[in-house]
Amino acid sequence: MRMFIAILICRVLHFCGSIVGGFSSLPGKLALKICPDVLKKVKLCENIIAVTGSNGKTSTTELIATTLKKSGVDTVYNKEGSNQIEGVTTLILSNCDFKGNFKPQALVIESDERYARLTFQYFTPKYFLITNLLRDQLTRNRHPEWIFDIIAQCISPNSKLILNADDPIVASFGIKFENAIYYTVNKTAISSPKTMLSYNDGAFCPNCKMPLQYEYKNYGSLGRFKCTNCSNGSANSQFAITNVDTKTKTIEINSKFQIQTDNLDIHNMYNLLAAFVTCSCCGVKQSKVAQALSNHKSQTGRILNFVFDGSAAELLISKHENSMSYNCSIAHVLNQNEAVSVLIVVDRISRKYFTSETSWLWDIDFEELNTDRVKSIILGGKYCYDLLVRFNSTEIPKEKIFCEPNFQLLKSAVKTHKQGKLFVLTCLADQERVVKELTN
Ligand SMILES: [Zn+2]
Repeated sequence: MRMFIAILICRVLHFCGSIVGGFSSLPGKLALKICPDVLKKVKLCENIIAVTGSNGKTSTTELIATTLKKSGVDTVYNKEGSNQIEGVTTLILSNCDFKGNFKPQALVIESDERYARLTFQYFTPKYFLITNLLRDQLTRNRHPEWIFDIIAQCISPNSKLILNADDPIVASFGIKFENAIYYTVNKTAISSPKTMLSYNDGAFCPNCKMPLQYEYKNYGSLGRFKCTNCSNGSANSQFAITNVDTKTKTIEINSKFQIQTDNLDIHNMYNLLAAFVTCSCCGVKQSKVAQALSNHKSQTGRILNFVFDGSAAELLISKHENSMSYNCSIAHVLNQNEAVSVLIVVDRISRKYFTSETSWLWDIDFEELNTDRVKSIILGGKYCYDLLVRFNSTEIPKEKIFCEPNFQLLKSAVKTHKQGKLFVLTCLADQERVVKELTN
């Protein structure tokens, strides 16, 4: 009876939310109050895919779900990005009948790294994909090895792990758990020729703490590595990106399957490969998977094109408190073959909690912006002076750097100092307000 009421309330509220917008977590929150173990009671489908990790989980979840759908598998996923237990409960119950039978054939769940242990205490995913574990949200996630321990608590021996073999921390899950499939990105035209400037998280093996040796790096601590002491390493991957052709914008998997993509940013390569592996594991023919992933138009909107003062501009959503996300945005800016100006806005650090902690700014490789093609850098928002202190430690000429703490004056500041195409780097927390101010 409790399960029936929980499903009823969840479905009614979810229906209301679909009309007025929002309500992705509230229905599940109420349902869990009425029936705390409702996720244990419902009858789920066989194909349950969990996706977690620091970066790329929203994009990869969307890639997996849309590929399965295109291949004829009835699939649902938490597209609103509500990745904590309440949001997952909303997703599951709103797709159940009143007897608790989950109707779709596949369930793809993006899970917050820390909430995975709550969500997966009630049911076991068939596949558990871990994209990477990087520095992210220091104030709530501490450091990646702490997150490793938390995720390890909720992995069942009955789940098949799908692991990014190029991430030393993720790869070490395969030492703890036997049932794993690995994927890797070989050294290609888009591998990074240099290591990160601000820190080196790939110096030591997370498993035995001895030094790691890298054959090459793709970005950050991700690359082909081998521990000098234990078996942690990226040698035995069943799936690999074997070639990237920047002219035809094609990537090749296992020297056989081609995927066309407009976005050759390295983190997108990892997302596409992870989706390819996961969908292949679900039994979809690999040629079909490659076809479905080709020219995929992302719904998650990490790159937002807009018009500023009559010219094309791009907003690159860069997660605050996540240096790798900013580094990927900087790499995208530097990939342009034209003069650019960069606006960086840090006004609210998080949408979900308050923090004024800005040490993460020192982890970002802002030094990379010291090139002739970057004509001006405008720093905006409440924390623009924290950004300025960070930029003062680089060798970027001072006359290229401008500060504007007042949101209402951002537009005129950009108009005054912009040269070439405008790129805006900011987080989801500030994105809407920044675009509104710039396009008003
Ligand atoms: Zn080791």
